[in-house]
Amino acid sequence: MIMSEFGSATAGMQTGRVLVVEDEESLALGIRDALRHEGYSVDVVHDGIDGLEAIRQGQHDLIVLDIMLPGMNGLDVLRTLRKENRDVRTLILTARAEESEVVQGLDAGADDYMKKPFSPRELVARVSAQFRRREMDSTSSAKVDLPGGTTVDLDRLEVFRGDEVTALTPREGDILRYLIEHRDRVVTRDDLLVDVWHYSNGKVETRTVDIHIVGLRRKIEPDPSTPQLIQTVRGRGYRWYDN
Ligand code: CA
Repeated sequence: MIMSEFGSATAGMQTGRVLVVEDEESLALGIRDALRHEGYSVDVVHDGIDGLEAIRQGQHDLIVLDIMLPGMNGLDVLRTLRKENRDVRTLILTARAEESEVVQGLDAGADDYMKKPFSPRELVARVSAQFRRREMDSTSSAKVDLPGGTTVDLDRLEVFRGDEVTALTPREGDILRYLIEHRDRVVTRDDLLVDVWHYSNGKVETRTVDIHIVGLRRKIEPDPSTPQLIQTVRGRGYRWYDN
C-alpha cells in the first residue's frame, strides 16, 4: 500500500531501496548511478560478508548480487538468506557462460539473473520489473474466485471446492499466477519455459509444460475434459479465460 502511494506521489520516479553487492568497483558504481538516476536509493558493498550483513539490517527491497565475490560467494549468500527466511527480491549477476551457475542461483531462490556484460539500462529495466512484480504481489489478493464455486489461494497453494481442499505444487501455483497476470494475451509454451521455469533456451521438452497444464486443469477446471479456464489456443499456447 505504501508502495503505490509513493508511486503516484512521485509521478514516474521510482522508489525503493536497492543493495548492490559487486566487487568490481567500476561496475558497482555504474549500476549505482544508473539506478539512482531512476530515483532508487542505492547502497553498495564489495564483498559477500558485508552484503549479508547489510541485507540482515532489513532496509533493502531488492539485492543486485554478484556470484563471484570475495568473502562469501553470492550463491552462499542466497542460501543463507533462504535459511533465514528473508523476504527480499534478488537479481543475480553472473560472469560465467555456464548455465549451471544460473540454475543453481535460481534454485537457491534468486528471482532473476543477468549475464555480464550488460548495459546499465538493461539492468534498470530488470530491477523495475521486479519492483512492479513486488507491488502486484502486495496489492492483489492471493485469492482468486473461479467459475464452478472454486477458489484458489495462490499464496497458500490451495484450491477450495465445496469442502474439498486440493494442494497445488509451487510450480502449478507459478503457472497459474502467470496465466492470470497475462490474461490479456496468449501465453506460449516458450513464455512459460522462460518466465516460469527460467530456461533460457528451447532445448527443454515443451511437453513438460503440457503435462503441468493437464495436472492443473484437473485441480481447477469444473470439467477437466472440456477446459474453460485454461484454454488451448491451437498452435500457439494457452489463454486464461476472460471473465
Ligand atoms: Ca565478481
